[in-house]
Amino acid sequence: MNDQDKTMLAVVTGAGGFIGGHLVARLLRDPRYRVRAVDIKPIDEWYQVYDAAENHAGPLEGDARDFSVCRRVCTGAGEVYQLAADMGGMGFIENNKALCMLSVLTNTHMLLAAQEAGASRFFFSSSACVYNADKQTDPNVIALAEADAYPALPEDGYGWEKLFSERMCRHFREDFGIQTRVARFHNVYGPHGTWMGGREKAPAAICRKVIAAHRSSRHEIEIWGDGSQTRSFMYIDDCVEGILKIMHSDILEPINLGSSELVTINQLVTIAEGIAGLKLKREYKLDAPRGVAGRNSDNTKIVHYLGWEPSTSLAHGLRETYRWIEGEFDAAVTPASSVSAAASSYGHGSRPIPGDGFVAESRHMDTWRQGIPAGYSHP
Ligand code: NAD
Repeated sequence: MNDQDKTMLAVVTGAGGFIGGHLVARLLRDPRYRVRAVDIKPIDEWYQVYDAAENHAGPLEGDARDFSVCRRVCTGAGEVYQLAADMGGMGFIENNKALCMLSVLTNTHMLLAAQEAGASRFFFSSSACVYNADKQTDPNVIALAEADAYPALPEDGYGWEKLFSERMCRHFREDFGIQTRVARFHNVYGPHGTWMGGREKAPAAICRKVIAAHRSSRHEIEIWGDGSQTRSFMYIDDCVEGILKIMHSDILEPINLGSSELVTINQLVTIAEGIAGLKLKREYKLDAPRGVAGRNSDNTKIVHYLGWEPSTSLAHGLRETYRWIEGEFDAAVTPASSVSAAASSYGHGSRPIPGDGFVAESRHMDTWRQGIPAGYSHP
């Protein structure tokens, strides 16, 4: 028996992104796995690239909206981790609902291809955005339990797509037998993720703003909303550990994967200021996207099933994240442009990832700029 026969092939889609990159790294450390890493972005845009993985990158080789790509990358798969999604922070998902909903193509085609390939397990990364908005109107939250997704009133666009795809996973399991597992991630943060450009989330955006204030000596920070909105933030190491535990468990229902350490956005800023050794003047941008008033993860179920829950403190995780963003910031931003680097942007109707036609293979494909995968013929 050669090495290949003894190992299981794990396929990770969205591998060029934040969570996917960390998951590939973790799986490669386990000698029981071979890893196939897939992402629509050209490989020089991936946050982490591992030569030990079989990498499928770019719109022709790695667009998981395209069923022929899904069939190719699922061939021989034992486990499939479907993390690919066109997504970003609140500014992005509130302004790009059609794009977010197009991930239904990715989820549908990956499920079909995994089922066809005979994969033993399929993991789907859902989100706390599936929860009913009426249960998140007060910053003094009652943590969201799994049942709070129904009756359905999720985040428009992104949340509806996730909720639909969760149910599709359930019905594929019930009707076709593929072992699907679904986790609802609550705000994941850490090194090697988006920290500028409009898709970044609050922890990375706040680290960047604090670093920009430090570098420019302009000691001000813009905060979206009034800063009283509450959230919990899960460190990436806990997220990856949770994905593997849930994937290999018998948990059939969608389950929360999040930290239960609740903070206000103002407290998050205070922690980042502490790391930098700065005190900044706070300016509140009340008309900016701010999401729900309050959200926390009720971890009763995950503790019941696994005897485990994410436990890395925000103080520790944010320090690691801050240090990584600091290195990226200094490599990319000159002192003169650090004032403008403090601002966060959000645009309406962004193009799908990667969007700018900057790789040779996609330069002449106008179709996928409108959300249509490269492999589909244009009428
Ligand atoms: P990310 O944006 O860093 O990574 C997603 C990756 O998917 C990107 O690299 C992107 O290029 C890729 N992708 C998009 N469309 C694709 C396609 N058609 N084919 C192949 N690849 C494609 O995001 P992330 O934070 O790593 O999120 C991973 C998953 O976790 C997503 O499904 C996301 O919805 C979910 N999630 C994340 C969070 C969070 O806080 N980060 C919270 C809830 C849910």
